[in-house]
Amino acid sequence: MRVTALAVAVVLGTTAGRAETAALPVTEIASGIFVHNGVHEEASAANEDAIANIGFIIGDEAVAVIDPGGSFAEGSGLRAAIRARTDQPIRYVILTHVHPDHIFGAAAFRDDRPDFVGHAKLPGALAQRGDYYVRRLRSTLGDEANGTEIVVPTMLVSDKLDLDLGSRRLTLRAHGPAHTDNDLTVFDQKTRTFWLADLLFVDRLPVIDGSLVGWLEQLDQLTATPADRAVPGHGPVTVPWPAAAEPERRYLAAVARDTREAIKTGIGIANAYQHVANSERGNWLLFDEYHPRNVTASYKELEWE
Ligand SMILES: [Zn+2]
Repeated sequence: MRVTALAVAVVLGTTAGRAETAALPVTEIASGIFVHNGVHEEASAANEDAIANIGFIIGDEAVAVIDPGGSFAEGSGLRAAIRARTDQPIRYVILTHVHPDHIFGAAAFRDDRPDFVGHAKLPGALAQRGDYYVRRLRSTLGDEANGTEIVVPTMLVSDKLDLDLGSRRLTLRAHGPAHTDNDLTVFDQKTRTFWLADLLFVDRLPVIDGSLVGWLEQLDQLTATPADRAVPGHGPVTVPWPAAAEPERRYLAAVARDTREAIKTGIGIANAYQHVANSERGNWLLFDEYHPRNVTASYKELEWE
């Protein structure tokens, strides 16, 4: 009898535990647009890799997730935040680019059977790096990484794609190499909100993992797009547009200018970062963690000009 009671208690405990997945805190930055603010840290077990700005948009008939987060745990929390606000189907999970902190929560939405939407080059990037990213996340997060796995996109964007959420149209654009070679942006026509993901870093140092020259070119196009507000991949949950892109443009331009100069004067790739964009050090969080590798990547790109 006692054994049975215990077994029931365990089952109830498990069910209750699942039902009580804590909703991720989110801010409604415009009507029906909710964003969770990532912390300015490296991924760790304590933060569950919840370091990027992620969120969702609610239309009259459906919900779109824009980046499911950095782990299964964070994705589950985001899903709970959606379910606390609407019963509408989660029809799209948009994966803005290959980086784990943005898309590793995707498996938490599998049972909703959404379309997972990504850049046409995202499948290739996942094939190349996915396994390594999962291993790295497991070693960093330990048990907090449980449930995290690669989800491949089921709907690809090679140029432009409109998604209809019911009286609410989202325009997705696939960009050329910039932050990565598979960056997507989302424009909500209803509120003129421009979700730039990691094409826009605010406060936290931009990471160059696609093309420095390409990113500067994309910024020219992006900043020419009028919008009432923007959502950066890292930084505040909403920022003025295009003014908020200025520090990023200044940093990237300084890296381009000084790296070209370092190459010209014969400074080697290993030490180049010490001579590049030093004026920017005080302007960014995590500068010393990411600046040297940004310069190394830029050096490799620019030395063939
Ligand atoms: Zn990124």
